[in-house]
Amino acid sequence: MESGQPEGRGLPRRSLFKAGVAGGLALAGAAAASTSATAVTEAAEDAQDPNLRRDFDVIVVGAGLAGVTATRELRAKGKRVLLLEARDRVGGRTWTDTWNGHMIERGGTWVDRLQPHVWRELNRYELPIMADVGPARAFMPTLTGFQELDPSVAYVRQNALFTKFFEDSTRIYPEPFNPLKRRDLVARFDGFSMRDRLDQMALRPEDEILLTSWTSLYGGTSKRGALTHIQQWWALSGGTFEAFHGVNTYRPARGTVSILNAMLAESKPVLKLNSPVKSVVQNANKVTVTTRAGEAFTAPEVIMAVPVNVWRTISFSPALPAAHREATNVGMGVTEERKLWIDLANPKDRFVAESPEGRGDPFCFMGRFNDGDPVVAFTVDTTFDETDGNEVERAIRKIIPGAEVRDYVVTNFPKDPFALGTGGYRQPNQLIRLHAKLQQPHGRIKFAGSDIANGWNGYIDGAIEDGLRVAGSPTLSGPAAAAASAEERIVVPMVNRELYRGLGRR
Ligand SMILES: Cc1cc2nc3c(=O)[nH]c(=O)nc-3n(C[C@H](O)[C@H](O)[C@H](O)COP(=O)(O)OP(=O)(O)OC[C@H]3O[C@@H](n4cnc5c(N)ncnc54)[C@H](O)[C@@H]3O)c2cc1C
Repeated sequence: MESGQPEGRGLPRRSLFKAGVAGGLALAGAAAASTSATAVTEAAEDAQDPNLRRDFDVIVVGAGLAGVTATRELRAKGKRVLLLEARDRVGGRTWTDTWNGHMIERGGTWVDRLQPHVWRELNRYELPIMADVGPARAFMPTLTGFQELDPSVAYVRQNALFTKFFEDSTRIYPEPFNPLKRRDLVARFDGFSMRDRLDQMALRPEDEILLTSWTSLYGGTSKRGALTHIQQWWALSGGTFEAFHGVNTYRPARGTVSILNAMLAESKPVLKLNSPVKSVVQNANKVTVTTRAGEAFTAPEVIMAVPVNVWRTISFSPALPAAHREATNVGMGVTEERKLWIDLANPKDRFVAESPEGRGDPFCFMGRFNDGDPVVAFTVDTTFDETDGNEVERAIRKIIPGAEVRDYVVTNFPKDPFALGTGGYRQPNQLIRLHAKLQQPHGRIKFAGSDIANGWNGYIDGAIEDGLRVAGSPTLSGPAAAAASAEERIVVPMVNRELYRGLGRR
């Protein structure tokens, strides 16, 4: 068992079957695996010892992908940058770790060609990617349980349903990296939840349950997640199911941390880990940023690249504007999602399983996508105790009778004080009411992060895009995005296209 983790409760085979549970912070020690970026640069960026310096051109708070991207851009413009990070690692809601001999991603994982900002970074640093082979079997919900299907059969059915669900999306988002381009149309839809759309479609119950694994996973609940958010993702995917589904196919082969390490190696900022920021105070000339340990730093400009939900835990003077207060107090994104990596002794093959919302099946999505990998599973069910190994095994057995859990590990970003949620996802009306305002500076303080990105908001790509925006560097859309997506400096592995049989190529 990894240090600092409570053991799973009531386990049948204690010596074999242990549950590891962590918020991002609790596993600080374990994060120091070879794949983690704990020991990055405090390299001198000029003659003065950076540990003694207190004054910078810009202070960036938060070393996730948004903060590290902004830092690199500012360093390229010759700025002296201090990057303050609360944890003992960089990456935030991405976290490359090792577990039972496997490299696992505890947070953000998949990247895609259709996500031009991250694709461009992979090419820039020539970081290899790998393609998931994909499932050989699909367990899909029926009204009476689960049915095992050939994945291509399952996806053909889902394709028709998703396409109907999203029928207005490309019209609402003619320029999907500019979400308010058709503000008039967005305003008509932004009050709806994904549940509202399902109700409006009045699908046969056996069809509706083929959609709610996704609508619940993305929204936390289908009722809470805004329809317009997932519609934008559909538009960003070019309006096809294959592309929408396909953005969960490729992963950086050396982990998401390889992107961060490459950016930091290039830019060599002064990076201070283990430095949670407590307060940010600005006056007419400068901003003072103070850590919980009482260290104070000043700069004429500060970039807050921490999650929106974390703003409420930091003291700002003067207080944040009304829109920022509303966003952080109401919360943005999914606040229930836990991600599990499960070592299944049985079955051992590649499979995918999707469970409908509201029927007591906790894992909305679960699967093994490469031979020999552990199974990845997501739950947003607040009544489910993922620390109880018996419950975990029971939940899997409902879908796959005879399944045997040997070991598993949980990451609970919503409980992590430096995340307070998982990926960004807006609630109804937040796009119209808040989005543009959240990108506005508050005096000398600017805000950045995937949670407030224009394009792939809630994804790694959005974090990088927003890091560029806040640093004043160009972001990608239209033909520039298409050109970045077409770049081929890295070898793109073949995907098992049989999976998408009958769906047409991307
Ligand atoms: C379980 C899960 C699965 C996901 N899957 C995918 C996926 O497959 N593909 C994809 O593209 N995206 C995925 N995402 C989303 C993606 O990981 C995030 O959108 C992205 O990493 C957010 O980056 P960020 O820089 O905006 O924020 P963060 O990564 O949260 O970075 C913010 C940083 O601020 C730091 N911080 C917080 N408070 C303080 C403080 N007080 N002082 C100093 N520092 C502070 C944090 O420690 C963190 O390092 C997933 C996310 C999760 C959680």
